[in-house]
Amino acid sequence: MSVLDIRRAGDPVLKEIAKPVPKITKQIKTLIDNMTETMREADGVGLAAPQIGFSLRVIVVDIGEGLIELINPEIVESEGCEVATEGCLSVPGMYGDVERFTQVLVKGLDRHGELVSIAGNGLLARALQHEIDHLEGVLFIERAQSIFREPKE
Ligand code: ZN
Repeated sequence: MSVLDIRRAGDPVLKEIAKPVPKITKQIKTLIDNMTETMREADGVGLAAPQIGFSLRVIVVDIGEGLIELINPEIVESEGCEVATEGCLSVPGMYGDVERFTQVLVKGLDRHGELVSIAGNGLLARALQHEIDHLEGVLFIERAQSIFREPKE
């Protein structure tokens, strides 16, 4: 596994619509492993493949409840909305209040190609929505109601 450079806001790869993964190859599994290691090294709760320069629909999330790896993830159900503060490894040192669905149901494939459903609320729902946004070329700063330099209490 390798820790890769995290692309920052301004890098064109972060603005692209990421492509679906047509087939889960060894390279895709290595990509997922590298994303996980890069996320952990940076102390993040999620990472999307474009953030390490691959315009592919792959995300990893770990809010401290175990690693979630999703290929071609899609939000299939959503409920409620709430505003909370987010940051992003691609926008270091900036935080913002972003409105998100409170609960989401996300479907995607795991690394074995099996269909998985992840139901999340609160922080997990937020992290999933934030990472899936990256696959659409959207950064949280474009959605934020306000942006600040220090996380609020
Ligand atoms: Zn991000």
